[in-house]
Amino acid sequence: ARDDQMMLLTKKMIEIRSLLQTVGQSDALTLPSIVVIGSQSSGKSSVLEAIVGHEFLPKGSNMVTRRPIELTLVNTPDAHAEYGEFPALGLGKITDFTQIQRTLTDLNLAVPASECVSDDPIQLRIYSPNVPDLSLIDLPGYIQVTGRDQPPELKEKIAELCEKYIQQPNIILAISAADVDLANSTALRASRQVDPRGERTIGVITKMDLVDAERGASMLTDKKYALRLGYVGVVCRVPQSQGKLFSRGSGNITNAIAKNEDAYFSSHPAEFGTETTIEVGTKNLRKKLMYVLEQTLAASLKTTSEAVQGELAEATYEFKVQYNDRPLSAETYLAESLDSFKHSFREFTEHFGRSEVRELL
Ligand code: GDP
Ligand code: MG
Repeated sequence: ARDDQMMLLTKKMIEIRSLLQTVGQSDALTLPSIVVIGSQSSGKSSVLEAIVGHEFLPKGSNMVTRRPIELTLVNTPDAHAEYGEFPALGLGKITDFTQIQRTLTDLNLAVPASECVSDDPIQLRIYSPNVPDLSLIDLPGYIQVTGRDQPPELKEKIAELCEKYIQQPNIILAISAADVDLANSTALRASRQVDPRGERTIGVITKMDLVDAERGASMLTDKKYALRLGYVGVVCRVPQSQGKLFSRGSGNITNAIAKNEDAYFSSHPAEFGTETTIEVGTKNLRKKLMYVLEQTLAASLKTTSEAVQGELAEATYEFKVQYNDRPLSAETYLAESLDSFKHSFREFTEHFGRSEVRELL
């Protein structure tokens, strides 16, 4: 019952943030998000796609992620509704994930080459019965050396952008590839600076298939770089043949990835078997993310509900001032958004442990 309440809490919090974004009032409200950091090509986008179950992120060998992508996953009960939405673009529901990928690529490549990265985020919501309620942020990857055609300050610009996102109360998903020593992990180095005791950092070791099982397993239990939330090892690449096989059907890659991971990890029972304390697989990573996000949301409940109250009052006020004597179609839209927001918030407070929340409101 407690778990159900927590899931509901997460869902409501994410809904509330989406609504506040819609009415352009999200600045003061910082709900925790999961921020993905790591070196370029460490596998960040692949991990996010594995969590969502679709290929939809810009990929390529050059710098394709140039703007932060703020991704909101919304679990919907409707088994047939799987779609994305760019709230700022007004393109409506996009059911074709290759079109989402194209749009993201265009938005990223629109950042001029002279700048290479921009801190202007792209907001994307994905609705699906197969995703948990999560809010995740994909960032440009850390680099060590700047290319001749790139601005010389690019390395620092990327680091600054990431630093902005890995602050409290966000949860850091620190991605390191298994074929690089943890001692050289840029993600761990960056997370240590803002989270020295490793309390809000989850370690993810990608590309476990590229190293031998023993080495892979030892990285997941490394005490030198211990994190309180631990490490999860994954293999997020869909084997080509299986990817094609699966995408002909639903386009969903969840099963292909799970099958591939199961095959790999179960072929090394001594290293990854159930008797070990090691956590592997995208499915477990997804569960862990949900759990950690819920815990963090619960911990920030008081400040959040205060912020929501403030934002709500302000939004209502501005709405009145702006649209008082100018009947616009936007007016109905905003009014509905606000109503729906108030409704959500009321529902949320009613469901989530009455006593705990009531005294906050
Ligand atoms: P990003 O730059 O950090 O977003 O990295 P990408 O997700 O684009 O991945 C970089 C490259 O690594 C791509 O060619 C992926 O196919 C490959 N890759 C990602 N995850 C894995 C994995 O688990 N195993 C293997 N063998 N390759 C992977
Ligand atoms: Mg990427």
